[in-house]
Amino acid sequence: MIADRNHPEPRYRDMEMDPGDHCCSQMAYAVSEDDLPVRYKPKTREWGIDYLGGPSYYLLEYCPWCGKKLPSDLTEEWYRRVEQLGHEDPWLVEDEDLPEALRSDRWWKEAGL
Ligand SMILES: [Zn+2]
Repeated sequence: MIADRNHPEPRYRDMEMDPGDHCCSQMAYAVSEDDLPVRYKPKTREWGIDYLGGPSYYLLEYCPWCGKKLPSDLTEEWYRRVEQLGHEDPWLVEDEDLPEALRSDRWWKEAGL
């Protein structure tokens, strides 16, 4: 069968994926697939869809595949914790100046958030 942009074949590579931190295997697949504009930011637990041609993404509140409400994003909490370490502007702090847990999803997993 010849691939045709007007009648593309769906891909089903997600079926075998372990959902991990995601709500379902489709989401796990989407964030792992470079050809799809779906992002996951573990540090602040955000899922989003990339704007075309830009670095920004639009936050997802529900999973487009399984319909579950996604856990709340932790951007404000991350901000607060970095401020408590004495950094006046957390967005300007380089990763290497932060404790290792705050550079990844470890801080919120350890806190049970
Ligand atoms: Zn899902």
